[in-house]
Amino acid sequence: MITGKTKLLGVIGYPVEHSLSPLMHNAAIQAINDQQPQQNLIDYIYLPFSIKPEDLNTAIAGFSAIGVQGFNITIPHKQTIIPLLSEVSDIAQAVGAVNTVYKTNKGWAGTNTDVTGFLAPLQTYNWDWHQKVALILGNGGASRAVVAGCAQLGFAEIHVIGRSMEKLAAFQQSWLNSPLPINLVVHKWEELSSLISQVDLLVNTTPIGMYPKIQESPVDENMFDKLSSAAIVYDLIYVPRPTKFLRQAQMRGAIAIDGLEMLVQQGAAALELWLQQFVPVDVMRYSLLNTPPASNPRL
Ligand code: NAP
Repeated sequence: MITGKTKLLGVIGYPVEHSLSPLMHNAAIQAINDQQPQQNLIDYIYLPFSIKPEDLNTAIAGFSAIGVQGFNITIPHKQTIIPLLSEVSDIAQAVGAVNTVYKTNKGWAGTNTDVTGFLAPLQTYNWDWHQKVALILGNGGASRAVVAGCAQLGFAEIHVIGRSMEKLAAFQQSWLNSPLPINLVVHKWEELSSLISQVDLLVNTTPIGMYPKIQESPVDENMFDKLSSAAIVYDLIYVPRPTKFLRQAQMRGAIAIDGLEMLVQQGAAALELWLQQFVPVDVMRYSLLNTPPASNPRL
């Protein structure tokens, strides 16, 4: 129920229509209130805001003026928001992108909960990560959160594969002054076949295999023969579940993790930051899994 005191949360992006965040966050807010006596209800709503790049400064000044409490950020504002913030967390600085903004008495502060989201399913495995080798396919925005997450876990080696040597060199360079301990090597796709046999964690951060191109996979079928059956294979894509890439990994006997849990956990970490209380992660996950396809074409 919206009242005269309802506080605003939201997500900014362009486009933003596809975002599943309003569904997930409003379900959590409602579930929290379902458990509360009338006098303890929290009075929040989470809305999508479609903001063109050229309107970002005006929109953020407007958010301050109307008392928005916090917001998520999606493409294309994850980097361009940074100069508008009075504080940026170490992890967001290491990633070079902000996906969550909250209020402090000095102004807006930014952090990055994609790293927390990425790590959540991996932390259910009691592995000694310091002995392990990670191979990350793709060198875009999500790859940066994955590299930071692998560095936090303490991976012995982190390898990143991309298709442009120029972009790969810039990617590697950007980690040189990182506060995170990191042993990063970049490679072209041609090197995948020689690397794949050594890896303990293989992560797809490219959109290859995402709906509607569900017949595609970033890795050829026969290359999976070289992968250790003890490896973890992780696809950041959450539509479809599983992707062809993960089905191939499962056939090899590897552990497969899809991108849904990362999506849920990055959202839960943001909501916890805004509300300063425990949030119902199960409800957030359930809201995405159980929304009829007509209103939720992405799952
Ligand atoms: P991005 O910044 O555009 O990066 C995409 C990367 O994939 C780039 O390195 C790009 O290479 C590479 N790539 C794209 N098409 C390729 C192809 N055909 N062959 C080889 N490489 C290709 O996108 P992003 O924001 O990182 O997102 C990547 C994926 O992660 C998307 O599917 C997104 O939905 C998913 N994601 C999931 C979550 C989650 O919570 N589960 C969070 C974030 C992202 P170039 O640089 O050479 O173009």
